[in-house]
Amino acid sequence: MNTKTIALIAHDGKKADMVAFVKDHVTLLQNANLVATGTTGSYVTQTGLAVECKLSGPKGGDAQIAAMAAEGKIDGIIFFRDPLGKHAHEPDIQMLMRISDLYNVPLATNPATGSLIIKGLF
Ligand code: PGA
Repeated sequence: MNTKTIALIAHDGKKADMVAFVKDHVTLLQNANLVATGTTGSYVTQTGLAVECKLSGPKGGDAQIAAMAAEGKIDGIIFFRDPLGKHAHEPDIQMLMRISDLYNVPLATNPATGSLIIKGLF
């Protein structure tokens, strides 16, 4: 079986939730290639897992991950958006979600759905 690649993105209000999510799923995620937006990735490395860090989200990291998804290089996206926040890079966020729909890439925006995706992929 090919190693799955999972993208991790969390807005600032959700970074603690992302670290908790990764810890909760570390047994499965340690078998994955992890890629993340820059700041999310630096938090996730605290769990001991290796993470390929792209640019920070507002500097184009979401767009880089969207490009990977369009190229068939991503098997699942865990994207914990902050529903209470406003973001300068909202167009990139919408673009990532559009690309995931266009290419039928599973995308979770909350931990409950994220768990189902991770369990389904591994
Ligand atoms: P960050 O980007 O991980 O670099 O904070 C996430 C985002 O805001 O899209």
